[in-house]
Amino acid sequence: MSRNHKIAVLAGDGIGPEVMIQALEVLDVACAKFGFTVQREKCLVGGAAIDAVGSPLPQETITACKNADAILFGSVGGPKWENLAPDDQPERGALLPIRKYFGLFANLRPGVCLPALTHASPVKNELIPNGFDVLCVRELTGGIYFGKPKGRREENGDIVAFDTMIYSKSEIERICRIAFTAAMGRDKRLVSVDKANVLACSVLWREVCTEVAEDFPEVELTHLYVDNAAMQLVKQPDSFDVMVTGNLFGDILSDEMAMISGSLGMLPSASLGQQGANGLYYGMYEPSGGSAPDIAGMGIANPIAQILSVAMLLRHSLGESEAAEAIEAAVNAAIASGMRTGDLYTGEKGETKATTAEMGQAIITALSI
Ligand code: NAD
Repeated sequence: MSRNHKIAVLAGDGIGPEVMIQALEVLDVACAKFGFTVQREKCLVGGAAIDAVGSPLPQETITACKNADAILFGSVGGPKWENLAPDDQPERGALLPIRKYFGLFANLRPGVCLPALTHASPVKNELIPNGFDVLCVRELTGGIYFGKPKGRREENGDIVAFDTMIYSKSEIERICRIAFTAAMGRDKRLVSVDKANVLACSVLWREVCTEVAEDFPEVELTHLYVDNAAMQLVKQPDSFDVMVTGNLFGDILSDEMAMISGSLGMLPSASLGQQGANGLYYGMYEPSGGSAPDIAGMGIANPIAQILSVAMLLRHSLGESEAAEAIEAAVNAAIASGMRTGDLYTGEKGETKATTAEMGQAIITALSI
C-alpha cells in the first residue's frame, strides 16, 4: 500500500485555523518519524469561504476533498454569519452537504477523561478514579432526522407536526459492523442503545445488531434502553467500552459524553463512509466542539481535539496506525507532564498554564522522543 497520502485541510473559522497549525506541525513530525508523506491541499470552508467567495462550501473545496484520501476539518461558524438564512449558514451549508456528498454515515466520537483530568469532569471524582474511555458510534445519515414524510398540517382545526423514524436493515447492519470492528480493536465490549420497548425501528435495530454479533464472537454484546444508557453514563461511565446507536439517540448521548469528559477541547471525532477494499475508510475528521468564538484569536484554545483528529485520520483513512498511537501517547505524555490550556487549568501544583502553541510544542516534544 502506498505511503504517499493526500488530505484536504479545511480549517474554517474561529479557533479552527489556530488549532489546525498545531495539528499540521504534529503531522509533519509523525510523517518524518514513521517514514510516510501526507500532501495537504488547504481549502476554504464555512464563514471564511462565504467572505472570500460567497459560498460556505465552494466547488473547488468539494473537488479537493474528492481528490484526497480524507478531510481534516477545523470548525465553522460564528456570530458574523448567524443572521444568514439557515441553509446559507456555515454549519448547515458546509458540514451537512459534505456528509451527504461523501456518504459519511458513521460518526465515531471518543469520550475520554484521562486519569489526570478527572477534576475537570462534572461526574463525582470518586466514581471515576481512573477516568474513562468510551467510544460512541452514532448512525449519522438516517433515522428520524431524515425520514419522510416530515412536516406539519391542519387536522380537525388543530395543527400537527410530524417526523418519521425509519431504518433499513442494511443501514443498521453497516453501522453495527463499524461498531463491532471498533470494539475488536479495544476492550471487545459493545453496548447497543435503543428503545425497543416502544419503537419498531429499535426492535429491528436489536434484531440486526444481534445477527451481526454472530460474525464477532469475541465481542460481548449487551443492549440498553436509551433512558438507562443516559443514566449509566453519568453514574458509571467507566463501565462502557463502545456504544452504538441511531442518529437521534447518538446526537444526545454523544453530547452527554462530551460534557462528562470535562472539556470539548480534548475530544476528536470521525465521520466515516463505506470501508474500501483496502480496509480503510474515506472520512472527515474534526474536533467535537465548535469554533469557540469566545476565545478565538487569543491563542489559548486547546489544540488536542484537532491533534487527536489527525490521529484518527491516520488510523482509519491512511492505515498509519503506529503513528496514530504515537500521537495519542504524546498527548497523554504532555498532559501527564502538567501542561494545561485554560480549559483544563486549575492552578494545582504541578500544572503549567499553556497557550495553544505551547501545548502543541509539548506534544511535538513528546512525539519526537
Ligand atoms: P463551541 O464548541 O464552539 O464552544 C462551547 C464552549 O467550549 C466555549 O466556551 C468554548 O470556548 C469551549 N471550547 C470549545 N472548543 C474549545 C477548545 N478547543 N479549547 C478550549 N475551549 C473550547 O460551541 P458554541 O459556542 O455553541 O458554538 C460556537 C460556534 O461554533 C457557533 O457558530 C456554532 O454554530 C459553531 N459550531 C460548529 C461546529 C462545527 O464546526 N462542527 C460544531 C458546533 C458548533
